[in-house]
Amino acid sequence: MGKPTGFLEFDRELPADRSPEERVKDWDEFHLHLTDEKLRQQGGRCMDCGVPFCHTGVPIGGPAAAGCPLNNLIPDWNDLVYRGLWKEALGRLHKTNNFPEFTGRVCPAPCEGSCVLGLNEPPVTIKNMEVSIIDRGWDEGWVTAEVPEKRTGKRVAVVGSGPSGLSCAAQLNRAGHQVTVYERADRIGGLLMYGIPNMKLDKKKVVQRRIDQMAAEGVEFVTNTEIGKDLPAGDLQSQFDATVLCGGATKPRDLPIEGRDLNGVHFAMDFLRANTKSLLDSNHEDGNYISAKDKDVIVIGGGDTGTDCVGTSMRHGCKSITQFEIMERPPDTRLDGNPWPQWPRVYLLDYGQEEAKHRFGDDPRTYLISTAKFVGDDGGNLKELHTARVEWVPGDNGRPFPKPVEGSEKIYPADLVLLAMGFLGPEDPVLEQLGVERDERSNAKADYGKYATNVEGVFSAGDMRRGQSLVVWAIHEGREAAREVDRYLMGTTDLP
Ligand SMILES: Cc1cc2nc3c(=O)[nH]c(=O)nc-3n(C[C@H](O)[C@H](O)[C@H](O)COP(=O)(O)OP(=O)(O)OC[C@H]3O[C@@H](n4cnc5c(N)ncnc54)[C@H](O)[C@@H]3O)c2cc1C
Ligand code: SF4
Repeated sequence: MGKPTGFLEFDRELPADRSPEERVKDWDEFHLHLTDEKLRQQGGRCMDCGVPFCHTGVPIGGPAAAGCPLNNLIPDWNDLVYRGLWKEALGRLHKTNNFPEFTGRVCPAPCEGSCVLGLNEPPVTIKNMEVSIIDRGWDEGWVTAEVPEKRTGKRVAVVGSGPSGLSCAAQLNRAGHQVTVYERADRIGGLLMYGIPNMKLDKKKVVQRRIDQMAAEGVEFVTNTEIGKDLPAGDLQSQFDATVLCGGATKPRDLPIEGRDLNGVHFAMDFLRANTKSLLDSNHEDGNYISAKDKDVIVIGGGDTGTDCVGTSMRHGCKSITQFEIMERPPDTRLDGNPWPQWPRVYLLDYGQEEAKHRFGDDPRTYLISTAKFVGDDGGNLKELHTARVEWVPGDNGRPFPKPVEGSEKIYPADLVLLAMGFLGPEDPVLEQLGVERDERSNAKADYGKYATNVEGVFSAGDMRRGQSLVVWAIHEGREAAREVDRYLMGTTDLP
């Protein structure tokens, strides 16, 4: 432990974000960095407690994992930063995480929810420490391409280039296998590229930089190629020694109510994907995106995707923004049923809501609300939403369901509605063509920790296997799947 009394001397401190007023005028990242001295102090707050729950990554008393799913060696790097040993801290960080610059920017940081200091003080700033170490590593030129010394002669196809496909490819390549990553989009990165918006994770400076490094290490990337359509999935089996399916959980949940076909009702991903593509292609000059400018926008869904729709609409210059959430507002502090070290289910104002509040005076979220129908004008354009308040009551099967409250109907004017209600699972063609079995939630069936499907030589990882999740879990699964593929190909493995 760097400074035994650090947690008594220094308060938790995060770098200021760029002000909401300034940042909604552009698409640049909004997080800033602390000075070296402040970062040392923050590292010194880590107590190196006997049982560091921050890096456990297993469910403790609840369904969500407590601590880091990647088992990042958090107390080690906190201590190394405190002692000014940044390069050593980077080495320790890369041992467990191929892409700390992604998680350090977008991870919801379950590690901080289970930090022991968090029992009676604000937790250590783990996520900010992670991004500070890796950003410094890139700035100093310490992150370089590591080309494997020996090649095994084995070839592996990875379908999908999101964080699970990328981490799997990076690990397999370092083990000496020749890896080809197939991606149907025109750019590599999966939801890192075309889901999470640029202001949260810069595409050119951060995502592409890592892809370039992987390409320099020998990973082959093939874009604009949909397996199952442009290339039959069976071809992979004949051309490669193993295949890893990392196609994500991309089927969006729909809201099939009256008026769903009106102009102006879109899936969130259509809005977000087109926005980022147009930004990267032409700085929005090609106009190939759904604009929220001067519109009354309603986002249906209160998760990360919904927040990104709010932040994107704010940057377009929407007239108003409202975000519907069917659940009740979370409490300000942990409830008794949600104790440390579980993931804290508490109210947070994320970046998009903060920006909306700054401009319109209030958090845009409305809780316990459901939409009954969309209503349009004579031209088939969306005009308004009819809603009702709901209360959660036990259903026939004992499970709670949202029951509309009589007399609570309300009409919201709207020209743009974005459906951000989650995802239902992976798309069918690749899985069907290969004959991969599905689990009860329609995901590719493969045991956690093993990743092998019922088809010889075919593995699956990330959202395609576990369902809609987080970047940190996708990286974790991709790494572990690489280990199992290596074992399958070589009979033994040194991969973690
Ligand atoms: C808008 C949005 C915001 C999010 N924000 C966060 C966040 O802030 N923090 C966080 O931790 N998580 C966030 N998530 C969740 C996170 O992005 C996902 O859990 C993660 O990206 C899953 O990684 P993956 O590699 O399994 O799949 P994906 O990232 O979905 O990548 C799958 C890739 O496979 C490609 N593909 C699919 N089928 C084929 C095929 N047949 N042939 C070729 N290519 C194919 C797809 O085009 C896609 O590029 C967000 C999700 C969304 C939708
Ligand atoms: S990856 Fe996420 S959970 Fe793990 S240390 Fe980083 S911020 Fe914490």
